[in-house]
Amino acid sequence: MMTRILRSFSLCILLAFVLCATALIHGQAASSQAKLSVHWEELTASDFREGIHRAQGVCLLPFGILEKHGPHLPLGTDLLDVRYAALHAADREYAIVFPEYYFGQIAEAKHEPGSMAYSRGLQLALLQETTDEMARNGCKKILIVNGHGGNSSLLPYFAQTQLDKPHDYVVYVFDERTPENGGPQKKTKIDMHAGESETSKMMISHPELVHPDRATGESGADQARQKISEDIYTGIWWYTRFPFHYSGEGAAATKELGEYQMNWWVDSMVKAIQQVKADDVSPKLQKEFYEKSTHPLDTQP
Ligand SMILES: [Zn+2]
Repeated sequence: MMTRILRSFSLCILLAFVLCATALIHGQAASSQAKLSVHWEELTASDFREGIHRAQGVCLLPFGILEKHGPHLPLGTDLLDVRYAALHAADREYAIVFPEYYFGQIAEAKHEPGSMAYSRGLQLALLQETTDEMARNGCKKILIVNGHGGNSSLLPYFAQTQLDKPHDYVVYVFDERTPENGGPQKKTKIDMHAGESETSKMMISHPELVHPDRATGESGADQARQKISEDIYTGIWWYTRFPFHYSGEGAAATKELGEYQMNWWVDSMVKAIQQVKADDVSPKLQKEFYEKSTHPLDTQP
């Protein structure tokens, strides 16, 4: 009797051990799946294939720039901030994030040290080849997340010109960086470049690169030197108003504001990735559009 009890007991222990080991192996598999990096450059070739599958073909292209950011922020502020937000967003809603990209529009800062201002043709050609190559590797939905105000005309134009000729992928542009309201009360009215908001966000993404003590070393006030109405556009408008490539007061920045704005930015980007993943209309209608555009006379109202 006793032997039988002992034998059943040992069997139970063995069974528990087997169950535990199985759970452990499964757990390891699950955690290695959970650990797949969102960084394009960190994935192995086979992990990249798995990543594309997991991301449902959605890849992020965080777009920054190298330009002066007042007297107190680093040249790469836009890229550092947008990558911080994009990487956190992709961690929450899986997408593959393309490496550092800063080949955008910044002609208006050529008079300041450290600006990398590529020519107009190269900006468009390089971006096109980059998205073409991303798509060839399975990124059939490319979400460009813009971190730089000077790209705000370039990127919609780039997206529009994707209709020029057929592409087997869709370009989406997400160009929001700062919430209109909510969070800690802002102290300043002019806040466009290296001001209260941008400096606050840098205090979250890279606090070690912020020099608050230098923020009042130059003026970020609006010089308002152009005497034409705002509905007439000129390329020199920015220089007429902010000749020191500084708009606002970095000294007004706080970590609390930065935290609120960065969280909002990451949340908004997560929602954007989710919408892009769910969007089956754009790829379908874009394909239909390309086909129709080869024979416009047959198109009926
Ligand atoms: Zn900036």
